[in-house]
Amino acid sequence: MKASAIIVAAGSGRRLGCELPKAFVPVGGRPMLDYSLRALAAVEDISEAVIALPAQMLSEARAIVRSAGLEIPVKLTPGGSERQDSVRIALELVGVENGVVVIHDAARPFAPARFFRDSIRAADYAAGAIVAIPVSDTLKRVEGNAIVATASRLGLYCAQTPQAFRRDLLVRAHRQAVENGISATDDADLVERLGTMVAIVEGSSRNFKITTQDDLALAQAVIAAGLPD
Ligand code: C5P
Repeated sequence: MKASAIIVAAGSGRRLGCELPKAFVPVGGRPMLDYSLRALAAVEDISEAVIALPAQMLSEARAIVRSAGLEIPVKLTPGGSERQDSVRIALELVGVENGVVVIHDAARPFAPARFFRDSIRAADYAAGAIVAIPVSDTLKRVEGNAIVATASRLGLYCAQTPQAFRRDLLVRAHRQAVENGISATDDADLVERLGTMVAIVEGSSRNFKITTQDDLALAQAVIAAGLPD
């Protein structure tokens, strides 16, 4: 099954507090975006990619794409004001020949190629599949600053990316979201609302999303430690 990839990299990274948009901030001496592109380059099932970016970063992105050595067609597009808008805009540029679309956050630079492969293959027999990890902390429901309940973490997972879906379902899910004014923080949420089965592929804590300066420091430390995948 061939897949198209969407990399969402259009966030400003306001919470990171850097001048550069987040996907262009250096991690271990390379722009954050470069990591996702190199992972993609190693996935045989992916035959094209669309990257959503801040409009002012198109020429920088072109240079990063060139140096990542991707041998597939890559389209660049300005993203939208929310992540969901960026995915929808990129989805319009995806070719119709592939049955699966895999979406990844540039803000997760440590997703290995096997996460893309596994989610694409799992999406081939379910409606979709997302990389996720079991919740490890104890969960508290809080009102004001007082605990009102302790929720069981049994069966609860933290969603990560990549997330892969059958293209027709993903298009339908985004169309339905526009029609019904639904906004979601991941694509699985939109596809789940179609009543279709979305599977889980085991992720890793290393595949964390860089949001704050602490996350960036952790990413630099992971690279300095030279840890394997
Ligand atoms: O803001 P956050 O880090 O949660 O965003 C997750 C991913 O979505 C990031 O890779 C970011 O670049 C991307 N994004 C986007 N367009 C937006 C907002 C976020 O492509 N408007």
